Amino acid sequence: MTELDVSPLARPLITRRQTRKVFVGGIAIGGGAPIVVQSMTNTDTVDVAGTVAQVKALADAGSELVRITVNTAEAAAAVPAIRERLDALGCDVPLIGDFHFNGHKLLSNFPDCARALAKYRINPGNVGKGSKHDPQFAVMIEKAIEHGKPVRIGVNWGSLDQELLASMMDENAKSTRPLDAAQVMREAMVTSAIRSATFAEALGLPGDRIILACKVSGVQDLIAIYTELARRCDYPLHLGLTEAGMGSKGIVASTSALAILLQQGIGDTIRISLTPEPNGDRTREVIVAQEILQTMSLRSFSPLVSACPGCGRTTSVFFQTLADKIQTYLRAEMPSWRERYPGVENMTVAVMGCVVNGPGESKMANIGISLPGTGEVPVAPVFVDGQKTVTLKGDAVAEEFQQIVADYVRATYGGEPPAAHLRPQQKSIVIRPQREASDRPAPAHSERGGD
Ligand code: SF4
Repeated sequence: MTELDVSPLARPLITRRQTRKVFVGGIAIGGGAPIVVQSMTNTDTVDVAGTVAQVKALADAGSELVRITVNTAEAAAAVPAIRERLDALGCDVPLIGDFHFNGHKLLSNFPDCARALAKYRINPGNVGKGSKHDPQFAVMIEKAIEHGKPVRIGVNWGSLDQELLASMMDENAKSTRPLDAAQVMREAMVTSAIRSATFAEALGLPGDRIILACKVSGVQDLIAIYTELARRCDYPLHLGLTEAGMGSKGIVASTSALAILLQQGIGDTIRISLTPEPNGDRTREVIVAQEILQTMSLRSFSPLVSACPGCGRTTSVFFQTLADKIQTYLRAEMPSWRERYPGVENMTVAVMGCVVNGPGESKMANIGISLPGTGEVPVAPVFVDGQKTVTLKGDAVAEEFQQIVADYVRATYGGEPPAAHLRPQQKSIVIRPQREASDRPAPAHSERGGD
């Protein structure tokens, strides 16, 4: 056995946990399927037009499942119309109904709603207290069986079954080696999820129609709970940090927790529960979810731009502007590129600020540009698949680089003949960017390579 055989470098980086496979509409979750990105609307479901618009926006951004609140009779009555309008728009994203307190009544009284939804989310802490709990939970499961739907049993620590928690606290107090309160709470969450799933199967729901979730807002709690949940069952798991928060805090906390679990192979579908800024874009949570999966090499959704952070060697914000412009351009093009240029989602682009790491990083990307830092000759060499091709300079660097990226996509993923500026070390190249009316006039020519 060689040193390499026992080295972590020689092992698979991530081995996914083996689970049952559950279909939600046409989307497979678990059983080796790609990890699914999902999201949730924040519109009033009664507002059919508003909810349709937001579901469509989330789906267009890449959400493969979208959850909507079904909290009242009026909301349940609106669900079939929402489904019909989405279908009419050519948007077939499966809809998940989020039920609390009255799901047993709504699913019974609104069979068209029950049929229009692709999955029911059931919170075992919110299905009724005392003697009502089991019968009301059973009604929801019976409706899932009747309509052939899967369920997510979604425990949340903010609504954890208090009777279960109290009885486990009592048991713990009698133990010779009692756990602390936080440990009992974690155990109660795992127990609530697994008991509910076992009960659902006993009622007749097939085991391959059950997904579990146990959401908390603390990163360490989430990791501990999901690690234990994964050890005790083979249901697919829906990962998410609940109440993650706003802005960078929400993104960092969600990424910290999910990355550790995903690295252990745990997690079959994810949702990032970001609080949008006032009037902020709800689709941000979809982009963040995609970026977590893509930066961990678990899935590819859109070409990613690597950019250096900048430092004292860069005195202008030009390279930051260029990196942002290219990333925005790539995202905007992806809806049409995805169909026309299979594999383009794996493309990498580098935008670097100076000669220190610029050429090296650019060579490792599919396309990279190394911009001039302070005191450097004001030229920007471009690298395509590791080879220097052209050197740009002048006022139209951004437009020309964007054009090179577009030409690379057409040649590499669309089979078109490569443009001259995609070949190594051309002496004299003319790049004709597709310009917008508001842009500056194009220069007579671009600079040649090899300087
Ligand atoms: S590549 Fe250059 S500009 Fe960018 S961080 Fe490194 S040294 Fe600074």
